[in-house]
Amino acid sequence: MTTTSALVLFSGGQDSAACLGWALQRFDQVETIGFAYRQRHSVELQCRSVFLAKLRDGFPDWAAKLGDDYLLDLGVLGEVSETALTREQEIGFAESGLPSTFVPGRNLVFLTFAGAVAYRRGLGALVGGMCETDFSGYPDCRRDTINAVSNALTLGLDRPTPIETPLMYLDKAQTWELADKLGGSKLVDLIVEDTHTCYLGDRKHRHAWGYGCGACPACDLRARGWEKWRAGR
Ligand code: ZN
Repeated sequence: MTTTSALVLFSGGQDSAACLGWALQRFDQVETIGFAYRQRHSVELQCRSVFLAKLRDGFPDWAAKLGDDYLLDLGVLGEVSETALTREQEIGFAESGLPSTFVPGRNLVFLTFAGAVAYRRGLGALVGGMCETDFSGYPDCRRDTINAVSNALTLGLDRPTPIETPLMYLDKAQTWELADKLGGSKLVDLIVEDTHTCYLGDRKHRHAWGYGCGACPACDLRARGWEKWRAGR
């Protein structure tokens, strides 16, 4: 096992794209994993292959480190989830106080499968775009949860399984700033054009910050982060 290698959970969204750039700058060998779980915005899965192809073309130094990509079918997660992300439901707040887009167990399952693939591939760390500062407050995005999963995987796989979360304490404006620092306007442009955030899967409406309906919570967060970052430059 090399300690300078990583498996990045890359969904095709803005956050995990920034994480991928972060990992490519930090590690010698980087592979990527994504999950199909019957998400309403499954268009993100098409975005991720386009993004990866363009990243290889535009960033030769990173391309030399970027290895295989894995797309796992976790349709069973969509089958057991009654959420606004996996069903045609209105996006709002559930009785629990959490957004109806919260998919229970999602990151726990994703990280476990990522741990299994990293084990097989001999990759050192997992890297994910989980973030505590999102207003959504998903409990499986908190650092405490991530630490617990990392401990469970380290014990259950009998090998160190650190989980890096470079965006954990950044807001969306700082995530744009990070992308700019890592790959300049070329990376920012690629993230704008070829990542997907909108919960409704809208790729028809193009804004300064990328594609989306412009109204769902994910679009709102991405748009506000973009505007704050642009205003502060
Ligand atoms: Zn949207």
